[in-house]
Amino acid sequence: MCILISITLGITLLFTLSALWRQHQAIRRLHNALLRKQPLLREDGTSADTSSWDHLCHATNELIEEVNRLQLLRSGQLTQLEATLGSLQEAVLIVDSTNRILLANSALNGIFPRATNILGQRLELILQSASFLQYVESVRKNEAPAQFEVEFAEGSRSIWTEVTGTTIPSLNAEKDTWALFVLHDITKQKKLEAVRKDFVANVSHELRTPLSVIKGYIETLVDGHLDMPLADRERFMKTIQRHTERLNSLLEDLLVLSRLESINPGLRRESTHLTQLLNSILEDYRVRPDCAEHKLSTSIDPAIGAVPIDPLKITQVLENLIDNAIKYTPKGSHIDVSAKLTETQIEVCVRDNGPGIPEADLPHIFERFYRVDKGRSREKGGTGLGLSIVKHIVHLHGGQVRVESKLGQGTAFYFSLPLRANDTVRAK
Ligand code: ADP
Repeated sequence: MCILISITLGITLLFTLSALWRQHQAIRRLHNALLRKQPLLREDGTSADTSSWDHLCHATNELIEEVNRLQLLRSGQLTQLEATLGSLQEAVLIVDSTNRILLANSALNGIFPRATNILGQRLELILQSASFLQYVESVRKNEAPAQFEVEFAEGSRSIWTEVTGTTIPSLNAEKDTWALFVLHDITKQKKLEAVRKDFVANVSHELRTPLSVIKGYIETLVDGHLDMPLADRERFMKTIQRHTERLNSLLEDLLVLSRLESINPGLRRESTHLTQLLNSILEDYRVRPDCAEHKLSTSIDPAIGAVPIDPLKITQVLENLIDNAIKYTPKGSHIDVSAKLTETQIEVCVRDNGPGIPEADLPHIFERFYRVDKGRSREKGGTGLGLSIVKHIVHLHGGQVRVESKLGQGTAFYFSLPLRANDTVRAK
């Protein structure tokens, strides 16, 4: 009897253990299916109660299908979002509540070239600007202005951006508030604005000086011309004339510059024999009284033939350079105009053996209103615009300008002219 009971118990135990084992296996398959998000097969369940297993199978498969659908939808939306953000010119950044970067589009790297591999990094380490961090804080407190201009230091240069920021709910389960920032690069506009302000200030200054001299002398003449000695009157008149001429050349140069910088700078190219042009310009100088005491020479490559240039504008370039060489070198100095031919271009050089230009001034010499010696330039009737006009005209022809100079030894201004008139470069 006892043996029978033991055998029965043994069989029951065995049966129960095997049922438990099958159920354990089925649960493992269920677990794996959920993990891999792969539908569960009917055969996967080998538990005793097939109908409840069928229900479980069905419910699980529906759940997995839904999860897969949502995931597909989400990844599609993410791809779409990434493509949209990637095509933006504005940098887009999302940071968590600790300022850790969660998302950044490719434009960010375009604006800040040093910002690479930034996901997960702290914002303050990537975008260094105290005012931007203050702005981030004010966005979190909902106290930020709609738009804010921020200057960032990127190495030795400044990057100006217009920033817009807002808080957004986090996409994770935690109760964390994220912040989204859009940065629009306005560095170019800022630079242009600075150049424009500088230009207006320079023009006003340049106009004010001769105008105030003319005004002063005219007032003196009006008040006292009756008792004024004739010699004084004549001297006053000559000064007024000189300053009027200065005003006139300033306005003329300004007009030339504005025309050269306009959309239609009026370049009239024609096939021009450069050697003839250079020789005729130099002939004119040789008979001018103001350069009677300068030695003029030319060395022109005989292989140079006809070039597609605007002869009037290139004459203006040469005249500006030769005028400068005459103005800024003492009597008896030597001025040489040379031209040599290479495979693709002609390089013209106006060289003098005058006092030269200090090295520190050379990088700025083609800038508008830049003068090495302001007093000397004005005394010689200079406007400070001549070399800027030279640069513009040469750039319009697709060429380049450069200068070499050594104090006490002389100066050489070079400009190149492409032999083919295909790509013209606008002056910067
Ligand atoms: P400016 O009307 O004053 O001559 P430019 O733009 O033609 O203006 O020249 C800018 C400055 O460059 C001049 O003021 C002068 O100081 C310097 N410069 C130009 N050419 C020479 C030269 N050949 N030798 C020495 N200095 C020169």
